[in-house]
Amino acid sequence: MKWINHQIVTGFIVSTATDDALITASSIVGAVLPDRVEGSPPKENKAYWKWRKSHRTWSHYPPIYFALIIAAQFAKNLVPSPYSLIPTLITYALIGALLHIAEDGICGKVPILFPSKKYGIKLFKVGSRSEYFFAVLIILICLFIRFGDINLLLNHLNI
Ligand SMILES: [Zn+2]
Repeated sequence: MKWINHQIVTGFIVSTATDDALITASSIVGAVLPDRVEGSPPKENKAYWKWRKSHRTWSHYPPIYFALIIAAQFAKNLVPSPYSLIPTLITYALIGALLHIAEDGICGKVPILFPSKKYGIKLFKVGSRSEYFFAVLIILICLFIRFGDINLLLNHLNI
């Protein structure tokens, strides 16, 4: 998934769940974190394939982000009150990173149990029209959850 779609999809999901602009902004920053820590792909051919081999391994390994979330929650109790928002914002940046990994898992493969063993379902190709359709679909679902009425939809669909 392209970075802009990672940021939009993650932002809408977190905004719908939390209704908090600062937390949403934090998750949007984290939504590109797993790719950012890998750095840019090198231009030179040999270096590129070496980089490519480790692409979506440790940087996209969920247990690391879960461990960091637990650490941030512990830090929350240790940080004096004027700064207690910082661990919360770090937590939501890490949640944004986890959403990034889940989003990569539907357009490629990501590690789940072991960093070297990847799993995923390829619903669409990165950068394709289907990816943008998926992003719009998530936006509509979030808007519906936020402002819609589920009974109206169920009646409309005769469910
Ligand atoms: Zn990624």
